[in-house]
Amino acid sequence: MSANKRLIYLDNNATTAMDPRVLEAMLPYFTNKFGNAASRNHPFGWVAEEAVDYAREQVAKLIGADEREIIFTSGSTEAINLAIKGVADMYHSKGNHIITVTTEHKAVLDTCHALEKKGIEVTYLPVDEKGNIDLKELEATIRPTTVLVAIMYANNETGTIHPMKEIGEICNRKGVLLFSDATQVAGKIPVNVKESGIHLLCFTGHKMYGPKGVGVLYVSRKNPRVKVTAQMDGGGHERGMRSGTLNVPGIVGIGKAAEIAMKDMEEEAKRLSTLRDKVENAFLQLEEVVVNGDTEQRMPHVTNISFKHVEGEGLMMTFNQEIAVSSGSACTSASLEPSYVLKALGLGDDLAHSSLRLSLGRFTTDEEVDYAVEKISKGVEHMRSISPIWEMYKEGIDLKSVKWSEH
Ligand SMILES: *Cc1c(COP(=O)(O)O)cnc(C)c1O
Repeated sequence: MSANKRLIYLDNNATTAMDPRVLEAMLPYFTNKFGNAASRNHPFGWVAEEAVDYAREQVAKLIGADEREIIFTSGSTEAINLAIKGVADMYHSKGNHIITVTTEHKAVLDTCHALEKKGIEVTYLPVDEKGNIDLKELEATIRPTTVLVAIMYANNETGTIHPMKEIGEICNRKGVLLFSDATQVAGKIPVNVKESGIHLLCFTGHKMYGPKGVGVLYVSRKNPRVKVTAQMDGGGHERGMRSGTLNVPGIVGIGKAAEIAMKDMEEEAKRLSTLRDKVENAFLQLEEVVVNGDTEQRMPHVTNISFKHVEGEGLMMTFNQEIAVSSGSACTSASLEPSYVLKALGLGDDLAHSSLRLSLGRFTTDEEVDYAVEKISKGVEHMRSISPIWEMYKEGIDLKSVKWSEH
């Protein structure tokens, strides 16, 4: 990497930099305050336990929960596994049906697939072109044997927010449990599990300016009292639901991250949505650009845009890795399959392949955004200038009528 190459990070939905204030809070718990929070008979343990209790209050407050409803995990993936498998196990005598949505994160979808292999029935609800589910369809899908509805609070690729309060109302009326993956939401917009009637909810440190390797599962203790079957056997930590010595520095970190996020949330959401709108408006000056997902019910910091007839991965090469964004072409895997989330919204392969996701964050500046928009816009124009498909489009040829040779 050359010394004068700029690096601009606009991929905050993948992970965030840790806030220095979080690091500062964590540091003593690696060294002199190193005790095991389960050591009940000496001060080393008490100091660690006290720090964990305090963090439990901090994260509970962020989502309007009671601190006794917080279970610390290694991140959202583990919390999701514990919530879904744990409920499926615990409520097996009540029923074997789970409802989720096609646009959920892989951690949810693959957990559901694993359960299907064990005889659990799963319904995957479709979404409309904005990424929203049909609430009437959700209600009609609930059976007497349904034990859980798993719906993410907001989507990681598009930022579309699901109406959790309405969904909670349906689930509570029907007497089924509601789990929500709030990984992209916690610390960014207000969440209140009680007001939304959510019984289980997860989030992770590393997407809210905290550390990697620590997350939270909220499990309701009252109206109703929910239990999940532990997925790991051991010392019975976390009220028996998640064994294993607690990651005290990580827990202190996610606690501090929650506290900071709560304090700055309103102002920061306003700042980011203004920046996001600036990005979008600039791109919409170009020809043939569409914003994917719901442009009203959405997170403030993310935009997902398709630049028609421009291949996303190729576009990213034009800015020479200077700007870190995500594209809808999943070229990380062996397959060339484009984003299943965008496809679920009804985008064709071409539009999905031509999409970029820009997710802004706490450390994103105005100046960085201006620079990125300029670079990306230039890249789009360059890609189009050398594209035979763009030329044909400009000549008014209906690309759908073209017979491409097959080989
Ligand atoms: C990142 C992410 C996860 C996984 O979180 P980890 O803590 O990295 O395991 C789950 N769900 C959503 C929506 C995410 O964005």
